[in-house]
Order: sequence, then C-alpha cells, then structure tokens
Amino acid sequence: MNDCLFCKIIKGEIPSDKVYEDENIYAFKDINPKAPVHLLIIPKKHYATLNDLPDEEMGIIAEIHCVMKKLAVKFGVAESGYRVLANINKEGGQVVYHVHYHLIGGRQLRA
Ligand code: AMP
Ligand code: ZN
Repeated sequence: MNDCLFCKIIKGEIPSDKVYEDENIYAFKDINPKAPVHLLIIPKKHYATLNDLPDEEMGIIAEIHCVMKKLAVKFGVAESGYRVLANINKEGGQVVYHVHYHLIGGRQLRA
C-alpha cells in the first residue's frame, strides 16, 4: 500500500530500528515507547485492520505470536512479564492503519 507508513518502513523508505524480519513479518522499536521495551510486530502484507484480515490468512497472527514470544526472551521480559495488544479502529485507539501488535514490557504495567 503506497501511502501506508508501515509499508514504507518494511520497504526501507522510512528508517526504523529493526529487531526482527522474516519472509512474512517485520518487527521494530516503537518511536514513542510507553515502556523500556516497546516493539511493534507487523505482517509484511498490508491489512488496514484485523477486520480486513481474511479467516484463511489468519495463520499470520499465530506467526506474529511466535515471533513475539521469541522477542520477549531476547529483550529480557519473558519472565518478568509483558503485554501484547492490538488497537482496532478509531475507538480502539488505532492510529496507523496497518495491522500491528504492540509488545510492551520492562516495567510494571497497570490495567
Ligand atoms: P496504534 O495506536 O496502535 O495505531 O499505534 C501506532 C504506533 O506506531 C504508536 O505507538 C506510534 O508511536 C508508532 N509509530 C508511529 N510512527 C512510527 C515510526 N516511524 N516508527 C516507529 N513507530 C512509529
Ligand atoms: Zn501497510
């Protein structure tokens, strides 16, 4: 998607602090971290929101979770604890319309 910020990051047109990449997934540090560890994990294929991800392509969400599990170990929060979340559409707080998961940790998180 040409005018999508995260598609531009995947293509290297906008710089990012990459922490992981494979054929289907890209992960990088959030530019405005809410905690000592704040990563964004995204599918390389563009879907605006989770609502736009077809059931038959939902395997990418499992792949993203596998990557998040490994990144939690790599960034030292697997045992102390961390949060994964996805904001969906306006009232969900979504700002960037390319499916992404936040991995947040490194401090005590409140509800
Ligand atoms: P959301 O509210 O779930 O759409 O979250 C979008 C996230 O993208 C926010 O936490 C932003 O800080 C983050 N973000 C926006 N632009 C960039 C960027 N260029 N590089 C890294 N993270 C970004
Ligand atoms: Zn995109």
